[in-house]
Amino acid sequence: MAYIALYRKYRPTNFEDVAGQKHIVKTLQNAVQQNRIAHAYLFCGPRGTGKTSTAKIFAKMINCESKTKRPCGKCDNCLAIQQGNHPDIIEIDAASNNGVDQVRDLIEKVKYAPLKGKYKVYIIDEVHMMSSGAFNALLKTIEEPPAHVIFIFATTEPHKVLPTIISRCQRYDFTKISVKDMMESIKKILEKENIQYEEEAVRLVCQLADGGMRDALSIVDQVIAYSLDKLTCEAINAIYGIVTVPEKIELLQMVSNQDAKGCMQKINEFAERGIDIKRCTNDMIEILKESVIHDYTKDASLCTILNKDEIHDAKLGRSTKERLSMIEELIKTYDQYRFASNIQSYFEVCLLNMMSIEDKEVNVSRETSSTDDISDIPETAEESVIDSPPETKQSVKKEIKGLDHEYMLSLLVGANKTYKHEDLSKLEKLSNYYLSPAWARYANLLRDMNLVASGKEYIIVGVKNEAIANEINELDAQGAFIDFMEVLLSKKKKVFAITNEEQKQLINEFIQRQKSHTLPEAASVKLEEDSLELVKNLFGEENIEIKE
Ligand SMILES: [Zn+2]
Repeated sequence: MAYIALYRKYRPTNFEDVAGQKHIVKTLQNAVQQNRIAHAYLFCGPRGTGKTSTAKIFAKMINCESKTKRPCGKCDNCLAIQQGNHPDIIEIDAASNNGVDQVRDLIEKVKYAPLKGKYKVYIIDEVHMMSSGAFNALLKTIEEPPAHVIFIFATTEPHKVLPTIISRCQRYDFTKISVKDMMESIKKILEKENIQYEEEAVRLVCQLADGGMRDALSIVDQVIAYSLDKLTCEAINAIYGIVTVPEKIELLQMVSNQDAKGCMQKINEFAERGIDIKRCTNDMIEILKESVIHDYTKDASLCTILNKDEIHDAKLGRSTKERLSMIEELIKTYDQYRFASNIQSYFEVCLLNMMSIEDKEVNVSRETSSTDDISDIPETAEESVIDSPPETKQSVKKEIKGLDHEYMLSLLVGANKTYKHEDLSKLEKLSNYYLSPAWARYANLLRDMNLVASGKEYIIVGVKNEAIANEINELDAQGAFIDFMEVLLSKKKKVFAITNEEQKQLINEFIQRQKSHTLPEAASVKLEEDSLELVKNLFGEENIEIKE
């Protein structure tokens, strides 16, 4: 008999087989019981977290002829759906069928009653890949769907789905499956398959799979093919040569605790395992970056590498500023690998340098917090831009929170009216992009902005609140806005966002400093800056480098 890949063989066919996602399963079951079925659902989440499986089980449940809480798996409808040949369950992969034609066809047939079951269910996977024409055609149908039709949209990238679609759907966010839940499911499967396993090996598989069940089972398949039906740590390390996320966090914690001996032992161990140090360095940058993003957004769904428990650990009990300094050190070292003959020793030096990173401001305020002496707590914006994460910000008086004050002033100095007039006329077309699949995210972030100033290579915009400003600045720091600006302004430009409140303060200060002739020189903005330069300019060099 041909070997069936484990992930195919053990695709969940009923709710209790879905790993994790308990809250979603329960909500869907209750909805059916109370006869409160919505007409459009949006299932969001990383790949391999059970979105399409859940969609199919849901389709089965609402068409099942038995009246139980779960699909019976025996009636005509259940069997046909299980075998993938039910005429009323229509699966569309938007990644391959992104033409308007397929959606027209869908819309054409929507009005006909179901042939076999009670409901027609359209499951549209990777819905963000649909063309804008197809999106718009679909929109009308979702607005007034016939009573017998249910749409289930699945996507790994909800931010690319039109807001008008999202607002008409009941949204469910599938989370990465926790290592614990995944281990349970995998062990059940291994036992059914009579495969011997080491407990630690199962954990390793789950960590490698990073929250995706499909990936976990593919890894198991590969390992048991290599080690003849046994799942061992040795085999996994031999095949993958990868450092797991908890291992990388552990290494970062050693750095944070100034445990030089532990660090060196760990690096030697990595070397013996044939670990790719370059990749490991990059992963450590990503881990710390996610921890910083979480400081500002408090939104765990923005983290793709770290799960909820890991986010806390990855913060290392350190301030945002300290972790940004660590990132800077890692980026610097990563850049140097190009010229290095011995990457390992560069990595070691990098970690040793990171050990001396300390946020003096934070330590000062920690020490003085028990007394009434507050003279050492920073009062100016420049000093405290980064050292206090958002939750503690209100305690520190400052003018410009997200961006470096002096740098913003130098951007204003470099701006002029001619550029502003040019840009203002082009910005009138912003609304043309609100529904564009490629640009909607950027256009909508700029929706309520006002243009503060324009320079040759940049614009400064005022926005409603800090969250929007942070989002724009974060995206821009990743180089994400430049292409949109080229489309919108016919010119590549960087976008700097400040809140309306900050705008007032900044302009007041500009006027005062102009009078006293103390304005900084005009900033020069390079569009292709390397990331380190960018971080320095954004946050101010003095905030990310501690000079002894
Ligand atoms: Zn049934």
